[in-house]
Amino acid sequence: MRDGQRPVLSVEEALEQVLATVWVLEPEQVPILEALGRVLAEEVVADRDIPPLSNSAMDGYAVRTADLSQVPARLRVVAEAPAGRLCPVEIAPGTAVRIMTGAPLPPGADTVVPFEQTRTDGEWVEILQPSKPGANVRPAGEDVRAGETVLRPGHVLRPQEIGMLAALGRTEVAVIRRPRVAILATGDEVVPPWETPGPGQIRDANSYTVAAQVRKYGGIPLLLGIVRDEETLIREGIHRALEERADLIVTSGGVSIGDFDLVKQVLAAEGEIRFWSLRMKPGRPLAFGVVAGIPLVGLPGNPVAAMIATELFIRPALLKMQGFREWPWPQVRARLRDPIPRKDNRRHYLRVRLHEAPDGLEATLTGDQGSGILSSLVKADGLAVIPEDTDHLPAGTEVLVLLLR
Ligand code: AMP
Ligand code: MG
Repeated sequence: MRDGQRPVLSVEEALEQVLATVWVLEPEQVPILEALGRVLAEEVVADRDIPPLSNSAMDGYAVRTADLSQVPARLRVVAEAPAGRLCPVEIAPGTAVRIMTGAPLPPGADTVVPFEQTRTDGEWVEILQPSKPGANVRPAGEDVRAGETVLRPGHVLRPQEIGMLAALGRTEVAVIRRPRVAILATGDEVVPPWETPGPGQIRDANSYTVAAQVRKYGGIPLLLGIVRDEETLIREGIHRALEERADLIVTSGGVSIGDFDLVKQVLAAEGEIRFWSLRMKPGRPLAFGVVAGIPLVGLPGNPVAAMIATELFIRPALLKMQGFREWPWPQVRARLRDPIPRKDNRRHYLRVRLHEAPDGLEATLTGDQGSGILSSLVKADGLAVIPEDTDHLPAGTEVLVLLLR
């Protein structure tokens, strides 16, 4: 679809273009705790059996099942086996070793009888119940076998994988590195948060919203500050981003069709523009292109539009760069409490609060849905997705809600 000279893309078409432009980054070695939540970039092979030796699963007595053909059986206690060392004593017929959980099984023993099923009498023990060979014994290599491939590239590392890496003796591991994301705000009226805005000025919210989102989705935000609406300054800002070795450049502001919306011009002059208009609301103007091989997303200046566009397009791009193979969005279905009138061909993302009702979730709008109303996002639990070409949604209509919690 075209709007004058501009190709106007659907959300899906735009996301497809963004994802086709980004690639999986290279691996880096990190301490295992730093690898939490990241994508493994190597094959992890066990260097030894875990556990290394057959050992006791209980506190009790290590014995020979052959001695338990008749119970109670009276056995002589010849040694004590704590965890952490080999038991030097072999269990001869008629004898037992007092053994602790995790202690290697003494030679000759083939079962462990827990204390609860025994009666101690000086240097003797009475075994009150019979036991099967291997009962309460953890065989060597029962968890992991030496030479076994325990984890493969592409695996997303959770706490249990971090523990497994430690168990395998790894202190560092190769994961896909985090993308560096340069963030540049544009606008004559925009000042940093630590300044008192003069007449007509506003503080820069976008750099911080976007930086927080970048961090939330695993990237490294590089705050490049604010540039005025002048082509040379915007160009210089983009060059700074390239010097900072950014993997992705994100600007905010200057992408609509106003007189001072220069990001598009600079992108077209310095690189290649792929699209700059979408069938969505908020966020119709969204520029995307490539400069010196680096993708650049030109977010609209309106804070709500900037954040939603970051969720929709930058989040999947960051996850793809980090080696994730899917990026499902946490979502629920909810019924609208209020009717929604609408008439255009754009997809709308409405800020809603969710409420538990007896028969499921209900969604209410968080007030003014203007694309500059950042507080509508602060109050929101999620974004209700209203598909294109919906005429009028009566109260009670079920909608999809992308969660922002
Ligand atoms: P623009 O896309 O440059 O036309 O900006 C659209 C609106 O967003 C204007 O009202 C700007 O003042 C506002 N805006 C632009 N940049 C920022 C920013 N970094 N933080 C907060 N609001 C902004
Ligand atoms: Mg502007």
